[in-house]
Amino acid sequence: MMYIGVNNLCNNSNELPTPCYIFDEAEFGRGIDGFKEALLTRFADVAIGYSVKTNSLPYALRQARLHGCMAEVVSHDEYQLAGLCGFEPREIIYNGPMKSRETFVEAMQGGAIVNLETKRELEWLAAMPAGRTYNVGIRLNINISHVSPKDADSADDNSRFGFSDESSEFADVLSALKAMTGVRVAGLHIHRTTHWREPRFYERSVDYAARVIEKYGLELDYLDVGGGYFGIFPNKPTFADYAVAIHNGLSRHGMERLRIIVEPGNALTASAFSFLSEVIDVKQVDERTRFVTTDGSRNDIDPFFRKSDYLKEILYRDSSRPAEPRQLVAGCTCLEYDRMFTLSDSPRLEVGDRILYNNVGAYTLTLTPQFIRLWPGVYAVDNDGNSRQVRRPSTAADIILFDK
Ligand SMILES: *Cc1c(COP(=O)(O)O)cnc(C)c1O
Repeated sequence: MMYIGVNNLCNNSNELPTPCYIFDEAEFGRGIDGFKEALLTRFADVAIGYSVKTNSLPYALRQARLHGCMAEVVSHDEYQLAGLCGFEPREIIYNGPMKSRETFVEAMQGGAIVNLETKRELEWLAAMPAGRTYNVGIRLNINISHVSPKDADSADDNSRFGFSDESSEFADVLSALKAMTGVRVAGLHIHRTTHWREPRFYERSVDYAARVIEKYGLELDYLDVGGGYFGIFPNKPTFADYAVAIHNGLSRHGMERLRIIVEPGNALTASAFSFLSEVIDVKQVDERTRFVTTDGSRNDIDPFFRKSDYLKEILYRDSSRPAEPRQLVAGCTCLEYDRMFTLSDSPRLEVGDRILYNNVGAYTLTLTPQFIRLWPGVYAVDNDGNSRQVRRPSTAADIILFDK
């Protein structure tokens, strides 16, 4: 079967069974290598922590590790998943409130980077076996309105994460840690995602972190700047812009020697994944509107149901189609609002035509519900354009978790 306008992502996308995601390994590697090179032009010691929650496809986790990434995890489940995908504790950055005591202890003992987020972690830390030094980081609370007003979404763009130096909490954590023998504060962690992902926000938030470091006279190994960056896109900030911004924020405090950690998710995954769906039915409901039903769903590509259009390619099976005034392309679920986009005055879509959605790798696979149609399979495309299945579609049997 031939399609008109077939994309050049992969040699045989015509033959891939739909619905499926397509993972572009070369694009993924380009992002990781590009970010690392940009940071290395400014800093001697850098690490990239791949944000697991943004796209936890095990195959992508393994690829990220092969490209030299650490795994940035925010729950005990993600910690364990990273381990199953080959990450040693010392290759893991453990963040967030949803740590378990067991994995916290294992991470501390195994030399992971652990950034404290909750007070119960202080209790766990105090009870660690004596006889050695444990390094910990602290997440610092960031109010964007105070740190970089131009990037704030509201007059009080505060955060529920980290310990605040606007209250006494950050100082309290520091003194609690100081009172423990064998515990050393080794790093500071900041992470906020701003609407426009502006480099200036990083300059300012890093400057803020540096001022807190000075205020308390901390001798740190690392500053973990978190995630929230753009990937490689035309007319958007580049990895080099972010590296310069972070460097500017630190150099005015003479702290550019710190080890710099970044935790990109969106920047590495968004452009590395596409989603392929096929038209399974077409219906004319009135003179004006044709509904085109596909085997994809907004749940696969827009789980927050916020988008109104997509970076899409329409793959017609033949080129001689009359134009239709209005075609509404919809998903396969029984949600009336599972509608993706509207085509005006475009060639008529027929059963068997395909729609490829590009740039859908961030916060999609990790947010797919088990709603009506279970998880699609994933095909990885290598540098030569050859594809192979790296996740089979899930089946009804996969979701029966009790013994039958
Ligand atoms: C979500 C998250 C990231 C990744 O954010 P992106 O916007 O996908 O880059 C990094 N660090 C932490 C702590 C996070 O919670």
